Amino acid sequence: MNCKYCQSENVIKYGKYKGVQRYFCKDCKRKFAGIDTIPKMQYPTDQVGRPDIENFEVAMKRDGRNKGIFVGFSFSGEAEKEVRRIEREEGLEIDLVLVSDIVEKQLNGRMK
Ligand SMILES: [Zn+2]
Repeated sequence: MNCKYCQSENVIKYGKYKGVQRYFCKDCKRKFAGIDTIPKMQYPTDQVGRPDIENFEVAMKRDGRNKGIFVGFSFSGEAEKEVRRIEREEGLEIDLVLVSDIVEKQLNGRMK
């Protein structure tokens, strides 16, 4: 578990609130709920979140790839942070591509 705010690993468990594990970051002194314990229902189903990126990372490692493209309708801030972390710490490169961008490029291509 890394700190949600500063990505530090200097994080300790800080009790539970309403059944959700909470953490305390010793570096930036902030408290936050564990990402993995937040019910997925809180995310719009079409938004790619951090767990999706983590699954993708596992799949990339399993296939021995160091470059991947993740296509989605939208990406959460946590998902983008996770991609940067993976790039920095694992040396894997993941491109986040929005479906809307692909559609736009396709349409622009057709208009030429
Ligand atoms: Zn922190």
